[in-house]
Amino acid sequence: MKISLSEAVTALRQAQHVVITAHINPDGDAIGSSLGLMHALTSLGKECRVYIDDDLREIFRVLPGFDVIQRPDKEQPAPIEGADLLVVLDTTLDRTGRIHKLCTAPVLNIDHHVTNDAQAERAYVDGSRAACAEIVCEIVRELGVPFAGHKELAMCLYTGLATDTGFFSFSNTTAHTMHTAADLLAAGVQPNVISEALEKRPFDDVQSLAKALNRIELWHDGRAAGVFLDCTQMAELTHTEGLIDMVRVIDGTDVAVVMKEKEAGKIRVSMRSTGLDVAAICKQFGGGGHVRAAGCGFKDVPFAEARQRLLAALDTALDSYQPTNPTKTA
Ligand code: 5GP
Ligand code: MN
Repeated sequence: MKISLSEAVTALRQAQHVVITAHINPDGDAIGSSLGLMHALTSLGKECRVYIDDDLREIFRVLPGFDVIQRPDKEQPAPIEGADLLVVLDTTLDRTGRIHKLCTAPVLNIDHHVTNDAQAERAYVDGSRAACAEIVCEIVRELGVPFAGHKELAMCLYTGLATDTGFFSFSNTTAHTMHTAADLLAAGVQPNVISEALEKRPFDDVQSLAKALNRIELWHDGRAAGVFLDCTQMAELTHTEGLIDMVRVIDGTDVAVVMKEKEAGKIRVSMRSTGLDVAAICKQFGGGGHVRAAGCGFKDVPFAEARQRLLAALDTALDSYQPTNPTKTA
């Protein structure tokens, strides 16, 4: 059920033992929002635990509190007990891995994805915000926790804002986003410390990205670009994070796709566009996200078949899409 910002704040104020979680395949917004809210609630004297049911990339170690994030045991996950509120950030409940099953506390869902259909008991969803962290900033203020004097909190929430906006360059960046970021900087965040930590990669990973980029394909008269990596090709690579950001820059393309088979039968898809509604395309396959950045997964579907189904959906969408602002510069 949809609730208001003040109802979300009241739920947080009333809780004393809070479990915070966010989506699997966690990005800077998922981790930053979770840790930012944790710092705020802890400063109010509440007991707070953060669980994310996935691997965390080491680059996020720059975020204060990174080490407190827990993951349930892979084989024998213990129930998460003693909580009076489960806060689910930056996603619907179905993308929290096993957390919403292991923690049976009442749920408060806070999200900025337009595809969030507010199925949680209480859901505050604001699709106009660039990042979940932008909403968490509003909540933290309403809770009466100032950014000033809370640099740890500010670093986490700044990271959420920066990563979901492509460091304040995507179309979701608003004046409100920038004002919020400015307030976080005033609390002591050094933007270069965050960006330098997040962009660093081992040599092998850069070589892997180069190998993956070599497989780039263009189709639909050059309006679509993609990299498709089945599990054999993935096994030759150490790292493919950020690949989509290199694919989406190609002149003349309306849509970019990266499809990865992490293990046999487990496929993840990332899509980006210049205006075509990729959330709607991903929704056809059980995924979602934003109009210009979305994702979905395929389970137990052969790679070739998943690719063919995705391409068919993309072709249909592109056939009926007229870019209002063509990107081809040449
Ligand atoms: P990314 O390509 O960076 O993994 O995801 C792009 C956007 O789509 C993010 O906002 C992410 O949360 C969302 N997204 C990615 N995969 C899925 C999915 O399977 N389901 C839903 N609902 N959203 C997704
Ligand atoms: Mn987000």
